[in-house]
Amino acid sequence: MAEKILLDIVTPEKRVLSETVDIVVAPGEDGEFGALPGHIPFLCKLKVGELRFRIGASSRHVAIMGGYAEVLPDRVTILATAAEEAAGIDVMRAKAARERAERRLADARDTLEFASAQAALQRAIARLKVAEKQ
Ligand code: ATP
Repeated sequence: MAEKILLDIVTPEKRVLSETVDIVVAPGEDGEFGALPGHIPFLCKLKVGELRFRIGASSRHVAIMGGYAEVLPDRVTILATAAEEAAGIDVMRAKAARERAERRLADARDTLEFASAQAALQRAIARLKVAEKQ
């Protein structure tokens, strides 16, 4: 049985990371799930949130802006709309995005504007939460 997992996180723009890890915990649409070596294969949708993984004693955190996960016994591939590791998050930008989204939420005139502002707010909150963990 596999002893490690190859974790790849890819966005339409770039490969965010490729690491051999011990465990991955990801924000599945139906709830957070953990993948250890030897996990049964499955595919799932990801929501906006935090992905974390561990290599030995060190844990790392990645903000994931939704996407898909493919879990295989020895590999987890994340196809994300956007993703940033904690150290790569621009906190000022995320705070500005959060303020913009809050204003847009308050001013929304229809459900479409409301949903778009709410999604932007969720992205900003996820980035700020992950940025705290570097
Ligand atoms: P903003 O309004 O600040 O652009 P956004 O939520 O609309 O935020 P996205 O569309 O999710 O941004 O991402 C666009 C690109 O910018 C992606 O490559 C993403 O990784 C990057 N990005 C967005 N916000 C940040 C941030 N705070 N720090 C680092 N990279 C970011």
